[in-house]
Amino acid sequence: MPGTCAFCGNSHLTPKTTRYLHQRHNEMLIVEDVPCLECDFCGEQYFDVGVLKRIEEDHRAIASHRRQPARYVQVAVESFECLATQP
Ligand SMILES: [Zn+2]
Repeated sequence: MPGTCAFCGNSHLTPKTTRYLHQRHNEMLIVEDVPCLECDFCGEQYFDVGVLKRIEEDHRAIASHRRQPARYVQVAVESFECLATQP
């Protein structure tokens, strides 16, 4: 984990938990309460490589039906070109 933000150079990074969206081929896995460090200034989030490896491994297990996820959600999908125009 970095001591300073690679984007803005701010050195105040706060430990937090966040929702992580992992993409693998065309499949997505949402993981809740993932530990990270968040930049107090720009909001950039940093994850430990061990945390990311666990998520990747879990996603692989779910994709190959070796593991059942906690739950499924329905997700709305939009193409930017099809967005309703704002008044
Ligand atoms: Zn930053």
